[in-house]
Amino acid sequence: MSERPDGRKFDEMRDIEAKVGVIKKANGSAMFRIGKTIAIAGVYGPKEVHPKHMEDPEKAIMKCYYNMYSFSVPERKRPGPDRRSIEIGMVMKNALLPVVNLKEYPRTAIEVFVNIIQADAGTRCAAISAASMALADAGISMKDMVSSVAVGHVNNEVVVDLNKEEEDVEGTTDMPMAYAPRMNKITLLQLDGKISKEKLKKAISLGMKSCKKVYEIQKKALKEKYSNNGE
Ligand code: UDP
Repeated sequence: MSERPDGRKFDEMRDIEAKVGVIKKANGSAMFRIGKTIAIAGVYGPKEVHPKHMEDPEKAIMKCYYNMYSFSVPERKRPGPDRRSIEIGMVMKNALLPVVNLKEYPRTAIEVFVNIIQADAGTRCAAISAASMALADAGISMKDMVSSVAVGHVNNEVVVDLNKEEEDVEGTTDMPMAYAPRMNKITLLQLDGKISKEKLKKAISLGMKSCKKVYEIQKKALKEKYSNNGE
């Protein structure tokens, strides 16, 4: 079996590290690292809505913000929001909404901020995995956790967790996915590139299998915090 640029097997994700409670002043927070990609998430709320006319008497409103720091990539990124980060904020929100019980918090706002401090592809997936852990850490009522990883088609093979080098290969297809394992629900599926029906099925199944592995790592990190009395 031929291997990938960094020597991984086709179904092998990069090394993952996850931790909750990394921002003491936030209601919930998490760090999620996959290879060289690092996301830090902070959740604030449920809190008062500003401006007040935005509040919903039926449920909480959830706002998601994604930011990639200038220094996170080899070629300095212009600071501040751009089209890409606004889109990823929306993508994150859509991936997380199916699991969050917003109806339990009427007239409030839940804010989710994710910062990418180092990027080597797969940042939106790392952002979703980190945000999901931070929401759980904040004690927000949830039906499930969301676990996320990209799958794709590189050099004629279906692979999981593309790094930047693989994303840059000519003809690569990149498919960020998010999955809630207990609900058995795919909450995000994007597709950049072309792929056959048969390989698409294979990629989705590899994505679901890999998200289940991410889920176990997320759960372990949450349990670790609470078995150490919050420290
Ligand atoms: N990237 C970059 N500069 C930018 C945007 C992206 O160097 O302004 C890199 C970064 O490594 C990122 C990768 O390109 O992870 C892929 O970006 P994409 O928009 O596909 O999203 P991602 O895979 O990070 O979710």
